[in-house]
Amino acid sequence: MTTSSSSSSSPARRRAPEAHLETIAVHAGMAGLSDTGSHVPPIDLSTTNPLSGVESGGDSYENLATGGRLGGGDSAVYQRLWQPGVARFEIALAELEGTKESVAFATGMAALSACLMAAVNAGTPHIVGVRPLYGGTDHVLASGLLGTKVTWATPHDIASAIRPDTGLVVLETPANPTLELVDIADVVSQAGAVPVLVDNTFASPVLQRPADHGARLVLHSATKYLGGHGDVMGGVVATDEEWARRLRQLRALTGALLHPFAAYLLHRGLRTLPIRVRAQQETASELARRLTTHPAVHRVLYPGLPGQDPSRLLGSQLAGPGSLISLDLGDYDKAVRFTEACRLVTHAVSLGGVDSLVQHPASLTHRPVEQHAKPNAGVVRLSIGLEHVDDLTDDLMRALDVVHEHAGPAAPRSSSAVSESFA
Ligand code: PLP
Repeated sequence: MTTSSSSSSSPARRRAPEAHLETIAVHAGMAGLSDTGSHVPPIDLSTTNPLSGVESGGDSYENLATGGRLGGGDSAVYQRLWQPGVARFEIALAELEGTKESVAFATGMAALSACLMAAVNAGTPHIVGVRPLYGGTDHVLASGLLGTKVTWATPHDIASAIRPDTGLVVLETPANPTLELVDIADVVSQAGAVPVLVDNTFASPVLQRPADHGARLVLHSATKYLGGHGDVMGGVVATDEEWARRLRQLRALTGALLHPFAAYLLHRGLRTLPIRVRAQQETASELARRLTTHPAVHRVLYPGLPGQDPSRLLGSQLAGPGSLISLDLGDYDKAVRFTEACRLVTHAVSLGGVDSLVQHPASLTHRPVEQHAKPNAGVVRLSIGLEHVDDLTDDLMRALDVVHEHAGPAAPRSSSAVSESFA
């Protein structure tokens, strides 16, 4: 458990070591606050910080610019090097993920980029990517934009994809947008000494803690469940001290820092994370069951439905099926018609917020993915929020009725990126 406070001069507020996740979510990262007379973390917008002396200021600068943590009595020097509200959020997220540290970035992609840059910098630019991944992750790996070289692998052939210059194995579970589950411990054992990075955005630490299964890097688009309200962007990597130092140095030198106000909102989001994730999951579980009954639905993709967890990871690796549901409606036209017929559920990219969203991955989030690896064009992805299950049912069933009743062609398509051959 990480107990250091954002300023090492503040004594840590101790909790029982057996504190439950809900308690950690509410109290983590708050150490030393009462000494300052505050009840919630202040938002410190200072871009620069007073220095106590030329030598000591220089020492602090050197420590922080090489990835060190702020020491007792040191100056934070400059916001790009250290920010107290960001540090509080990092402590809280690390406690929730069960890692020693975490390092926060401006976005999830900035967090991923730092991990890839670290691999390149270590002379191990080869990455094993386990598809399907979020489209942006797939894009950055496939393009080699950051100097990495990718080999795509299934969860079962990781060992044969590893080379002497492999720096990372990158996977996502539940996967985006198929919601298939990948056995993290199995991938970790196949990867041997190569660190495994798990994108835990879909599950959140409430449902899955990849580090408990051997993952060395746990990545979040904090923009999603951690923030939870669709009003803040951020990314974070929960990891060990060695990787945290590397990532902090990269953040300091490349400037991909999280803004203090974003850190405040994300830290606040963590406090209600367990209750939001579980309430959204309860609604999604019921909806997934109801949606299987509609004749327009070829298949509901949801790990909680019978037959969709062949490796039996639900209940062991993943505590619950979560609140993302994908629907296979058969083909592109039907997926478009459904998406455009939703009313209460907003047609918008992103996920994990309090309001429900629908999107067509093949056209949107997974548009840059190579044609042969693009998601099935008949699939739409739903992120279920906190609305009443009956209101969501009404909206989605009505949109499905529209799909079912219309035999004619859908609205003119604008997407050249979508291939019917994957429908
Ligand atoms: N990982 C997953 C699973 C995502 O869904 C996203 C964004 O949608 C990202 C990473 C990238 O995060 P961000 O948009 O915060 O850069």
